[in-house]
Formats: sequence, C-alpha cells, structure tokens
Amino acid sequence: MKKLYKIKKSNIDKRGLYAATNIKKNTKIIEYKGKIITVKETEINPKFDNNKAIYLFNLNKKYDLDGDFKYNTARLINHSCEPNCEVDGVGLKLWIYSIKDIKKNDELTYDYGFSFDKDYRDFPCRCRAEKCVGYIVNSQSRWRIKKSKR
Ligand SMILES: [Zn+2]
Repeated sequence: MKKLYKIKKSNIDKRGLYAATNIKKNTKIIEYKGKIITVKETEINPKFDNNKAIYLFNLNKKYDLDGDFKYNTARLINHSCEPNCEVDGVGLKLWIYSIKDIKKNDELTYDYGFSFDKDYRDFPCRCRAEKCVGYIVNSQSRWRIKKSKR
C-alpha cells in the first residue's frame, strides 16, 4: 500500500507528518507503534510522573502503550486545537485515523488530550488554528483558558 504520509519540517514543531495524498475521512493512516506495558508499570515509572505523557496511551484496564520510541513514526504528529486526526485502538493496536477529509500536503494533527492543570502555561500550542487557545489542553477543558484570558 502507498504511504499516506510523509515527514516534513513543521510550523508547529520541528517536524511533523503531512498528507502525501488526499485522504478521505475515517481512513487508517499509520499505526501508532510502541511497547505494551501494564498499567501497574506505568504507575511506578517516574518517566510518566505527570499526566502530560504525550506518547502514553491507555489500551484497556490492564495495558498501556508507550510510543516514545524512534521507530514510532506517528509520534511526530503534532497537537492541534482543531485536529484532523484522532488516535483509536483496535485490540492492542493503535491507529491514527482521519476525522475529516484531508488535502494533500496538509499537516496531520490530533488532540493530545492534556487535562487542565495549573501548569498549562508550560505547554504552549503553535497550531495556528482559528480556534487555538494558545496552550495544549484537551477540548473539554479549553473553556477554562478562554475564561482566564479575560
Ligand atoms: Zn492550538
């Protein structure tokens, strides 16, 4: 199968993934690869001390997936406040799916889903979306930032 993505310099961060072709909504674009670890291992590993572990996903009650490895190309995908992709699990595998039609050369993004904490200012967002709130915070919590900006 032809690759649907390519790695390029990004305006959001150093590098990002871009659509190599037009992509229809609900397309599996790339597997989010990583190491499967138990939820217990996650709890005792200081690497995941804060809840801003970008590359850590919960698969089910027992297992998490740590995607913080070079071979996981999908980890280059940047956060956006108006994303065009999401991460979804099929069994113990994670995939990046398009949640809207994506045009060739558009940057692929998903919502990192950070919860709102006092330290949100440590995670600025440069996604340039019209609705960007300036920080990486999940969509359910963004209203809090809009409020505090006033
Ligand atoms: Zn943003």
